[in-house]
Amino acid sequence: MTIPTPEAFVAEARAWLTAMAKPRTARAWGEGSDSVAVFENWTEEQERAETDRIRAYEQAKFDAGFGAITWPREYGGRALATSYLLAFRRIEAEFDVPRRTEMFPVTQQLVAPAIAQWGTEQQRARYVRAMLRTDLIACQLFSETEAGSDLAAVRTRAVRDGDGWRLDGHKIWTSGARVADLGIAVTRTDPDAAKHVGLTVFLVPMDAEGVTVRPIQQMTGGSSFNEVYLDDVRLDDGMRLGPVGQGWKVALTVLASERLDSGNLGLENADQAIELARNLGRPLTELERDKVADLVTRSYVQRLTGMRAAAALVAGKAPGPEASVGKLLATDTMARTSEVVRMLLGPDLTVDSGRWGTWAWTEHVLGAPGYRIAGGTDEIQHNILAERVLGLPREPRG
Ligand SMILES: Cc1cc2nc3c(=O)[nH]c(=O)nc-3n(C[C@H](O)[C@H](O)[C@H](O)COP(=O)(O)OP(=O)(O)OC[C@H]3O[C@@H](n4cnc5c(N)ncnc54)[C@H](O)[C@@H]3O)c2cc1C
Repeated sequence: MTIPTPEAFVAEARAWLTAMAKPRTARAWGEGSDSVAVFENWTEEQERAETDRIRAYEQAKFDAGFGAITWPREYGGRALATSYLLAFRRIEAEFDVPRRTEMFPVTQQLVAPAIAQWGTEQQRARYVRAMLRTDLIACQLFSETEAGSDLAAVRTRAVRDGDGWRLDGHKIWTSGARVADLGIAVTRTDPDAAKHVGLTVFLVPMDAEGVTVRPIQQMTGGSSFNEVYLDDVRLDDGMRLGPVGQGWKVALTVLASERLDSGNLGLENADQAIELARNLGRPLTELERDKVADLVTRSYVQRLTGMRAAAALVAGKAPGPEASVGKLLATDTMARTSEVVRMLLGPDLTVDSGRWGTWAWTEHVLGAPGYRIAGGTDEIQHNILAERVLGLPREPRG
């Protein structure tokens, strides 16, 4: 297969997207949906229907050669440089394509690479392509009530059972567990070993006997995350991902990709808050002008930092702990967006006046704090930066 020139690739991508979707038009103030939801407010049926709709687009994209641009050919990829992937994303953003829920990056950018890195030949053949094409959707069975920031404290047990394993435990905050086909679970296989050593990772079919999913209602109203009970779940050894006792390293592969993936979060809503300031129908006070200008500046800083991270990737540099800056900037933008809309809207944020683009912001204000926690809290990101980037002394560990 020949490598297309960047110009030929861009033309090919544009032609495909033109056939697939309408061009994205700038959101005219007061028209169409005013949703700025951070977490979707769906019933289980809606979550399934939306997941299927996004999946259909992702599958068509994969089949057209744009779903796994940088991946090796054995997984259905095109083995092209990252610059081609970034070019595709730039063009795709010009079209009105289905917006991926978090399950899609979790499947394609977190779990598929972890299986490609740690999986056996059979696991790679069975799961990687299927996840890149989203024929299979994955969720992260990491957190427990006593193990979040301190993930190595997980207590879900995996015990040898003949040729296979038996899993027992309770996972929590599992995004998308209702629609996922497989979960990637961190378990304790050796309770006597040091905390980070006695862990092993498994791939758990979500329809296996003994797996129970219970939705958790969020303050935005929806249930994008869940509790997952694992009661005597039997797995054969072919579902173990990576060596016994090396689960910490496998989990870190997933977490490093997660931090890298969060850099562009919140920018669309920041732009929409700036539009709100322009269309408020009254002059801004000096303090409001100051806050809006600050949001404009900081969202630019977030964008530029994202471009620097992308430039490093294009130059072939491995993502390092520096990627944590992107997530911190994103959660900061989201918090500042909330502050600006609270200031601009005042009581209109607490009571639905029916005015377009006002009460809808409750879904941002109530949802945004969740991202300060998901994928590693702000405090943990600060610790990573302090210790691994700045080389400051390590925090005392309990
Ligand atoms: C929207 C959302 C989606 C999520 N999706 C998933 C998912 O799909 N799968 C999954 O497994 N988990 C998921 N989580 C869970 C998430 O990973 C954890 O909530 C997160 O890691 C924090 O853990 P915790 O809630 O147990 O808080 P804790 O770890 O108990 O932390 C409590 C507080 O103490 C602080 N803290 C803890 N340790 C330190 C330290 N060493 N230094 C300074 N401060 C510290 C924290 O920053 C936090 O403020 C999700 C969470 C949210 C909010």
